Amino acid sequence: MLRTHTCGALRIEHVGTRVGLTGWVQRMRDKGGLIWIDLRDRYGITQLLLEEGRSSSELIETARTLGREFVIKAEGNVIERVSKNPKLATGDIEIDLTGLQVLNASKIPPFTIEDETDGGEELRMKYRYLDLRRNPLKNNLLLRHKLSLETRKYLDSQEFVEVETPYLIKSTPEGARDFVVPSRMNAGEFYALPQSPQTFKQLLMVAGYDRYYQLVKCFRDEDLRADRQPEFTQIDCEMAFVEQEDVLNTFEGMMRYLFQTIKGIKLPEFPRMSYEEAMKKYGSDKPDLRFGMEFVELNEWAQGKGFGVFDQAELVVGINVSGASNYTRKQLDQLTDFVKRPQVGAKGLVYVKYNVDGSLKSSVDKFFDEAALKQWVEVFGSKPGDLMLILSGHKDQVRVQLSALRLEMGDQLELRKSDEYKALWVTDFPLLEWNEDTKRFHAMHHPFTSPKAEEAHLLESDPGAVHANAYDMVINGVEIGGGSIRIHNEGLQKSMFEALGFTEEEARNQFGFLMNAFQYGAPPHGGIALGFDRLAAIFAGKDSIRDFIAFPKNNAGRDMMIDSPSTISHEQLEELSLKVVTQKK
Ligand code: ASP
Repeated sequence: MLRTHTCGALRIEHVGTRVGLTGWVQRMRDKGGLIWIDLRDRYGITQLLLEEGRSSSELIETARTLGREFVIKAEGNVIERVSKNPKLATGDIEIDLTGLQVLNASKIPPFTIEDETDGGEELRMKYRYLDLRRNPLKNNLLLRHKLSLETRKYLDSQEFVEVETPYLIKSTPEGARDFVVPSRMNAGEFYALPQSPQTFKQLLMVAGYDRYYQLVKCFRDEDLRADRQPEFTQIDCEMAFVEQEDVLNTFEGMMRYLFQTIKGIKLPEFPRMSYEEAMKKYGSDKPDLRFGMEFVELNEWAQGKGFGVFDQAELVVGINVSGASNYTRKQLDQLTDFVKRPQVGAKGLVYVKYNVDGSLKSSVDKFFDEAALKQWVEVFGSKPGDLMLILSGHKDQVRVQLSALRLEMGDQLELRKSDEYKALWVTDFPLLEWNEDTKRFHAMHHPFTSPKAEEAHLLESDPGAVHANAYDMVINGVEIGGGSIRIHNEGLQKSMFEALGFTEEEARNQFGFLMNAFQYGAPPHGGIALGFDRLAAIFAGKDSIRDFIAFPKNNAGRDMMIDSPSTISHEQLEELSLKVVTQKK
């Protein structure tokens, strides 16, 4: 062993011990006669000391050749520090050096390896191995490790079995775009990387495994919106002989276990909210419940007063923002600009200030007198000092717009605290959603999700009206996971494919294996998948998942460190029977 202890281990009780430490030079201070070296490894930082006159001159000479990030081996005696550092776990001691050996030199790193670094995003991605030396990233990966360990412990305690499913599978048209892999042995044919192990986990239920899980990589070739990764990790689970309630209880149990063991937080029971209610009250199927501002529908009190914008709208709807009546003209203009941004898409914003002195001031005073506005105050439940913000338009659109405004107000008033956790289940999603571009229905969850039994007969006559046995787990406005009770009967699966516009042949070609399996005693089953990267970020109170993945890709889907994707040689292309139409210059 090159070392007797790690850089995080030594305490006052070790004084007098001879030790050997290894690590990276974090910092050097050379103050005339005294030299201090901060030695860092994964476990912490220990201070090394050299003193001219007392330490050997050879040692001092070696020390003066050291630079940041040099890898060294140090030997010496643990002594008590004269000036202690209470911020450091090892801050009571230092090492009086008797030996120093450079194990490897280092170039000057392109950014500082400190908690707050001067490195830009791209540079840090290119030198990810240096970025990972920094505490914030290290702590993220350690948290991630702990989460995976505790997840496995919990699921194991509930009789779940981890089974690996293949990464080279078959491309299917449903869902996102597949990443494909050409097959050398089968010229002209391709594998696809799984978007999720969905069909395999269902087949494991048919095979009798009863409770399956896997911490598994999934791949989706989507245009990368901020903070999406083309490969990501899911906690993927499936259970046989269950109803929706069983799945919800099992995974609510898991989440509460994880919060309790990892963060020491006791989460209360997760409230349940139907998709319809979530859309009506929050304009979102993943409402952030850390703050209120529930939607208030105003049609009855806002229409028929001669204000055309409201009169022509399908829905007039607003939020009451507590304590914001002091918003200035400028701030209100900024909010109007915010809702008019193309990403939000509203035409304008109506406000009513309910001033502290009880007076009312609105942007629509021309159409609504004090008595009319007083009615609004009633409906909103506003108090003096509040601000009412109102949008109008097409029902579905205006709800989504108001949701964006609600979140913006939550941010502005700092109501979305990163150390507060509000979880809920959203249930009863529509089974299908109409796609204007393709002019057909798509599965809102996926084509294996079962319709509510009492509505299944509508699948042919009124497919849009059917609800699904599908559910999402939402924490702090983030969809942490989703799942469903599956179809386990061949006939129903066929009708579902029909409703999705598959011909019988297409359905056979794509999913024949599953429908065959359903002929051999498929048990009722259901499951869920939780986004593991995002879960880690949430546990750390962070928004970005990138820093919870050891080697992530950038927004263009590139790995900046290994410089991938890349072209391949003509020999490789030939072997794969591929022709490249456009070669990158
Ligand atoms: N396979 C689904 C997904 O990846 C989750 C599930 O239905 O279990 O979103």
